[in-house]
Amino acid sequence: MFELITLPYAPEALEPVISSKTLALHHGKHLQTYVNNLNGLIAGTPYENMPLEEIVVKAEGGIFNNAGQILNHNMYFQQFKAPSEGNVPTGRLAAAIDAQFGSFEAFKKEFSAKGAGLFGSGWVWLAADKDGKLCITQEGNAGNPLTKGLKPILTFDVWEHAYYVDYENRRPAYIEALWSIIDWKVVGERY
Ligand code: MN
Repeated sequence: MFELITLPYAPEALEPVISSKTLALHHGKHLQTYVNNLNGLIAGTPYENMPLEEIVVKAEGGIFNNAGQILNHNMYFQQFKAPSEGNVPTGRLAAAIDAQFGSFEAFKKEFSAKGAGLFGSGWVWLAADKDGKLCITQEGNAGNPLTKGLKPILTFDVWEHAYYVDYENRRPAYIEALWSIIDWKVVGERY
């Protein structure tokens, strides 16, 4: 049985970027529903004792959708910390971003544009191939770069439920604000 992750910060810790109201709905209701759905769908199937990542790679349909949404949201919620100015990656990941995109600012610009430009519901990702080469992918609905053989590093949820309470229809403003709450230590460890 999968369980709802516990958030590694207080409900108001991400304000004003993500409100406690949004967190209560997004983590407490949306993610909980995906957890409940998946547990119901996999009971008595070969997926019952599989790690989430393996289910995402192997499953289709409702099992894929719910497992993908759990994995994506776990990565999303666990990569945040309280807002800070001049919040940038460090170390090996920072060097790889500079090498691939020219600069962190150029990477941010491309990532933000791909998040804002994704039509409908989905996720924008920073991912790495087996040689550590970075790329940005747009994934619709419950998509995750794992299904393309890539390692997921950083993700922004661009489903409307992620931002509508705080930003209404202004998806680009939500994306811009997220950069100040990324916990680059957590993200760097994924790389
Ligand atoms: Mn979401």
